[in-house]
Amino acid sequence: MRDNPIQPTVDFDADGVQHGFLKVPYSGDDSAWGAVMIPVTVVRNGEGPTALLTGANHGDEYEGPIALWCLATELNAEAISGRVIIVPAMNYPAFRAGKRTSSIDGGNMNRVFPGDPDGTITQIVADYFSRTLLPLADYVIDIHSGGKTMKFAPFGAAHVLDDKEQQARCVAAVEAFNAPYSMMLLEHEPVHLYDTAAENQGKVFVGTELGGGGSTDATTAGIAKRGISNVLMHAGILPGKPERMPSANVDTMDPRCFITSEHSGLLEMCNNLGDEVKEGDLIGVIHDTERTGAPPVEYRSKVDGIFMGRHYPCLIKPGDFLAVIALKVD
Ligand code: CA
Repeated sequence: MRDNPIQPTVDFDADGVQHGFLKVPYSGDDSAWGAVMIPVTVVRNGEGPTALLTGANHGDEYEGPIALWCLATELNAEAISGRVIIVPAMNYPAFRAGKRTSSIDGGNMNRVFPGDPDGTITQIVADYFSRTLLPLADYVIDIHSGGKTMKFAPFGAAHVLDDKEQQARCVAAVEAFNAPYSMMLLEHEPVHLYDTAAENQGKVFVGTELGGGGSTDATTAGIAKRGISNVLMHAGILPGKPERMPSANVDTMDPRCFITSEHSGLLEMCNNLGDEVKEGDLIGVIHDTERTGAPPVEYRSKVDGIFMGRHYPCLIKPGDFLAVIALKVD
């Protein structure tokens, strides 16, 4: 495989604070010998663990970019032991366009891992993370939220792994992140996720879904900021003890947790995110938008649990994610 064409303008092995770019060669109509300049900050102070922190893996999810732009500005090298690598907007073309996927190649960053140095721009960035940045890291935090089409009750997430010792380290880091919910998450298509690339390299990986709807608020941005600091403390990169707030453990290991729409129409949610629901409870109804007078189609929970995630726009169609109900774990 050829070398990745991305050139960093920072030295990942130098002590101190460096603000620079991952320079991705890109020849387009607006810039013939141009490059996409992805902002990156590296903060290093001697030996110690490395944390790799990313936001906007999907470009319309904003808690990560907000928390990481703040951290990049505020973090002093003297404050840490080890190294923090911050890429606030991983799919930078998508982020600049306010879109989930890249405005250049349509690439969905979290569906192209491990990437390809000979591929399109999204695949080239994924390959750079797979072969250059992930190998530098011990702890990996990737801050997601629902984007324009989903909204979640805020949770940190780990996955079931073959290596149970690694799984336990991931769960401990997610609990240190200390979102209102800590989730054992079932992924439907794990193969090409950034999560999977990090986990396959033995890293401690923390994922999140912190809000959504294509925006953010003070609460969810605050959860991201506090959670990242908490994991840096948990890793021993920042001094101090993680701040503990009340948090519930949940999982979605039962496929019945997920509800997919089979109808088009106007979605009316019948519960709010964070509500406790029972099997058989009405989650939402879909009104027929082509006529009045027809009874709406009812969607009911198939499990007892917490209403954790929903389709965000009020118009829905067959195949759309409608809701996820998470199971409570003692
Ligand atoms: Ca996402």
